[in-house]
Amino acid sequence: MDYKPLSGREFPRFSAIKTFFRLPNVSVDADYEVGLFGIPYDGGVSYRPGSRFAPSAVREMSSLGRGFHMTRELNWIEKLKVADLGDCSTVPIDQKQTYENIEAYVFQLAQKNKRFIACGGDHSTTLPVLRALRKFHGRPLQFIHFDAHLDTYPAAWGCEYHHGAFARHAVEEGLVDPKKMLQIGIRGPLAACDDLNFVRKQGIRVLSMDDLRDTTIADFCKKLPAFDQTPTYISFDVDCLDPAYAPGTGTPVPGGLTSYEAQRILRALNVPNLVGGDVVEISPPFDHAGVTSLIGVDVMFELLCIMAGNKR
Ligand code: MN
Ligand code: MN
Repeated sequence: MDYKPLSGREFPRFSAIKTFFRLPNVSVDADYEVGLFGIPYDGGVSYRPGSRFAPSAVREMSSLGRGFHMTRELNWIEKLKVADLGDCSTVPIDQKQTYENIEAYVFQLAQKNKRFIACGGDHSTTLPVLRALRKFHGRPLQFIHFDAHLDTYPAAWGCEYHHGAFARHAVEEGLVDPKKMLQIGIRGPLAACDDLNFVRKQGIRVLSMDDLRDTTIADFCKKLPAFDQTPTYISFDVDCLDPAYAPGTGTPVPGGLTSYEAQRILRALNVPNLVGGDVVEISPPFDHAGVTSLIGVDVMFELLCIMAGNKR
C-alpha cells in the first residue's frame, strides 16, 4: 500500500468517505509507520461535554489537510507512511474500562514499533496513553504539554481521574519526568493555589501567557528548551488557544494563544524522539464553522511534520 491521501484532483475535497487527511483506513497490523486514531471519550470532563464527537469532526475538517510544511521544508506524505486506524474502543459510561482499552491499544502500537497521533477525547484520556508508553519504554517520558490549565488539580467529587488531574497523575505515577516537562499557554484564574504549589514542588517548567506576551513570539520561540533523545510525547489541549480562536472546547479560558502563535511554537519545537502525541478537548457541539476542529487538523499536521523530520 502506498499510504497516500485520496487525490483532490480526482475526488474533490468535499467528497468521499472521511478519514484523517483522506488517508487509507487500515488495521493496526498493517505496514504504516505513523497511525492516526480517535479516542471518542468525554467521561472525564468537569464542565461542558462533547469531545467524544471530536474524532469524526476532525476527520471531516481534515479533508483540507495538506502535506508540505513551509518552515520545515518537508512533506510528511512523502517522508512517512501514515494511515487512519479508526477509533480506539471506548465505553462511554465506564472510565476504568475505557482507560484499560486505551492503554492496551497504545501498548500494542508501541510493541509494533509504530508512532501515533491520537485525536481525543477529553484530557483524561492522555493518562492511559502515557501509562502504555512508560511501560513500553521502561523510563519516564519527556513531555510537552500545551494547555490553559496545569491539569494538576486534586480529586473532584471524590474522583481522582478527571480531565483536570491527568498531569498530576502522570508525574505521581512516574510516567513523565517532571524535570523534562514543559507546560505552555498556562493562565489563571485557578480554583486555588494547589496546582501552582504542585508544579513548583516538582520543578516543572511552566511558560505562562504572560511569559509569551512579555516578549515577541520570535524571542519566545528562541528561548524554548532543547529536548534530548528521551522518548517524548506532546499533548495539545486545544483550550491553550483563546476561546476566540477555539470556541469548541469544554472549559474555555480567555486570554490564550492565537492560532498563529501556537503554530509558531509548534514549528520551533526541535524534538529528536517524538514517539507520540495528541490533540484533545475539541468539543464540536460548542464549535462554530468548524474552526476548532480545523486547528486540531493543523496540530496533527505539525506533529506529523516533527515526526517526518526525525524519521526512524
Ligand atoms: Mn488539559
Ligand atoms: Mn485545558
